[in-house]
Amino acid sequence: MTNKEYADILLPGVKHTWEEYEKMYPERDLPEGAIVTRYAPSPTGFVHIGALLVSFLSSKFAKQTGGVNYLRIEDTDQERSIENGVSSIIESLKSFGIEFDEGAISETEEKGNYGPYIQSKREDIYKAYAKKLIEEDKAYASFASKEELDEIRKEQEISKQRLGYYGRWAKDRFISHEEAIKRIENGEKYIIRIKSPGDFYNKIKINDLIKGSMEMPENDIDEVIIKSDGIPTYHFAHAIDDHLMRTTHVIRGDEWLSSLPKHIQLFQMLGFKAPKYAHIAPLTKNDNGQIRKLSKRKDPEAAVSFFTEEGVPKEAIMLYLATVANSNFEAWLDANPNGDIDNFKFEFKKCSASAGSLFDLPKLYNISKNYISRLTKDDVYDGILKYTEKYDKDFYEIISKCPEYTKDILNIEREQKKPRKDYAKYSDVKNGIWYMYDELFEAKDYEWQNITDKEEIKNILNTYINDYYNENDDKDTWFSKIQDLSNKLGYAGNMKDYRENPDNYKGNVADVSTVIRVALTTKSQTPDLYELLRLLGWKKINERFNLV
Ligand code: GLU
Repeated sequence: MTNKEYADILLPGVKHTWEEYEKMYPERDLPEGAIVTRYAPSPTGFVHIGALLVSFLSSKFAKQTGGVNYLRIEDTDQERSIENGVSSIIESLKSFGIEFDEGAISETEEKGNYGPYIQSKREDIYKAYAKKLIEEDKAYASFASKEELDEIRKEQEISKQRLGYYGRWAKDRFISHEEAIKRIENGEKYIIRIKSPGDFYNKIKINDLIKGSMEMPENDIDEVIIKSDGIPTYHFAHAIDDHLMRTTHVIRGDEWLSSLPKHIQLFQMLGFKAPKYAHIAPLTKNDNGQIRKLSKRKDPEAAVSFFTEEGVPKEAIMLYLATVANSNFEAWLDANPNGDIDNFKFEFKKCSASAGSLFDLPKLYNISKNYISRLTKDDVYDGILKYTEKYDKDFYEIISKCPEYTKDILNIEREQKKPRKDYAKYSDVKNGIWYMYDELFEAKDYEWQNITDKEEIKNILNTYINDYYNENDDKDTWFSKIQDLSNKLGYAGNMKDYRENPDNYKGNVADVSTVIRVALTTKSQTPDLYELLRLLGWKKINERFNLV
């Protein structure tokens, strides 16, 4: 029996040969140096912030070089897949501005000439290449049951040997074709394994674009490539996909580094040119002095949905991720605070090669504060509107009724050289300006400071509104009136006078304006008081004063 006949029996009903597939997916016609890369998640629906970093970098490298970034869904492990997992990943990445040139666009649709991009739709392709390996005597049928494998593991543990199906332990390598066929006819289940040519005591040299050059032991394990249900393993499927989709660069998390000898061996056995590799360090967290990987289970911020729910603008997240991605990005951002991120050239050698990059939430919020502070009042209003529409319906109703008033509030100390930085996320906004809306204002928990006596407070407020308030005053006039008011009531209108002779006064102009501020808002810290008075107007000011 020829190897080909044997392969036909092991994997019957395969529609195309591997040669046909090679022709169907020719080399891409792209400019020199174009990077073809991919983001290859399993459809679990969950997008880790580290995965966002990887897909962000992939898209940047492809774009910078006139290449292609495609989305491939790796669903060979059906147990991990969830319903609508594909669309939820796509939606989630899209909400951060990451879109793909090719690949899956939903559970059922895709774009591009190198598909299908969902592994579960590529069974015939994998089998065609598994047949190639069987024909070349590089793969075989293995019948070892779970019990037999457990037995092997036990023996290896007892004799303190490396675990796995390799060398003399890989007994099914030696089963003849005839015997294998007999067992198949008897209904025995089988899987397909490679006949690994590797020697564990040999080292292979690996050149990772981020980690540099490394040596690792060759793989000598007879890895499973096709499972008994005909589904390929991830390792096998990804090698074929990366080859046929003409991937030039594999950019992925460094948890895959230890699989590299296996992957490189598969490329060699299949006769494929291996892609270049760039393994990204994981995001870590300082957990009470202990540095550990950001964990899906323990850290809410590990999920990108956390930031969407908090209302951190996607642009701010991407700016932060860019600082993590390339060590020189931050200096560039300082020099180009309003610069377009597309003008920065990302480089593999500027990625962190170390075991982990610290995910620094306060720093992310700080970047976000800067980002939000530089938005125009229209843009910040739109951002808040979109956020609240989904996550805070009440506030949404309120601010959509009075867009101009809200924009004016948001514009206080904005659109100027050094804008006020008070919001790191849209969810902070309501907490910052609720008192400007009668629907939300509550006359309680007043944060009085130096002046707490009710009579004195009333006296200041009444004197102000009756004798000094004029809605047409410009800011300088307004302030000199507050100074006059202070002087009249025994407070220093001028801070210098107060500092020189504090005992001559009941307090100073800052104490007086604080009383007005707290009466209006209940808060001792607010944006510019003059602007608040202007926006509230006489009627509301009067009402608020009467509530004290
Ligand atoms: N499907 C793998 C994952 O979920 C991707 C590994 C790779 O990029 O090769 O992480």
